[in-house]
Amino acid sequence: MSNVDARELAKFSELAHRWWDPNSEFRPLHEINPLRLEWIESIAPLAGREVLDVGCGGGILAEAMARRAARVTGIDLAAKPLGVARLHALEAEVHNVDYREISAEALAEDQPASFEVVTCMEMLEHVPEPASVVRACATLLRPGGHAFFSTLNRNPKSWLFGIVGAEYVLRLLPRGTHDYARFIRPSELAHWCRAAGLAVGATRGLEYDPLSRRYALGDDTSVNYLVACRKGG
Ligand code: SAH
Repeated sequence: MSNVDARELAKFSELAHRWWDPNSEFRPLHEINPLRLEWIESIAPLAGREVLDVGCGGGILAEAMARRAARVTGIDLAAKPLGVARLHALEAEVHNVDYREISAEALAEDQPASFEVVTCMEMLEHVPEPASVVRACATLLRPGGHAFFSTLNRNPKSWLFGIVGAEYVLRLLPRGTHDYARFIRPSELAHWCRAAGLAVGATRGLEYDPLSRRYALGDDTSVNYLVACRKGG
């Protein structure tokens, strides 16, 4: 059985043609991208590194990392977003990014210990068994390599801001984008990471100010958050 929810892939495929429109449903991803990119680089400088982006979608982060001179592989199981990602890289003349339709688990069987950096952003909350993706990410890393995860916390505040606020009030995201039951507490993610042989390092919150309509990295991990990990050895 593969670890994938077909309805989730269909949702992202349906919107795929708007992926690079900064005013579309993907606006939040465009806005948070410089923040997460700088944070990743502050921990694991990207130039010349072998990098894997799991659940890359239309390639917003993957292409940005390639522009920082990393050699990037982006993987996803939704064909349309991958097509959009390939076309965008072609038009932008970014050559050091390669997109593949394969699961993290399958790639981990083919190519264990191949990457120095693995990123998996805003994806775990769309997957039936996120712990299996975390394990695959750990397997894909070389010893000493860095993994970066981001997802949505699970508590009343994340329900209010992550679903009611984002999908109904501010309409930053289409209704039904997120399923509260799939949100992940930092303690759960940390547990899966440690069980997979990853040491959990810095954790940052992604804060949104509805008045200025700006995102910032901060200490408040109660809604959206990012975790940096390192594989031992
Ligand atoms: N990581 C990107 C895109 C996030 S959107 C970014 O942050 O910019 C979530 C992505 O996860 C979508 O592209 C969706 O197709 C992908 N996805 C969902 N389930 C998946 C699975 N089981 N395996 C691989 N990708 C998956």
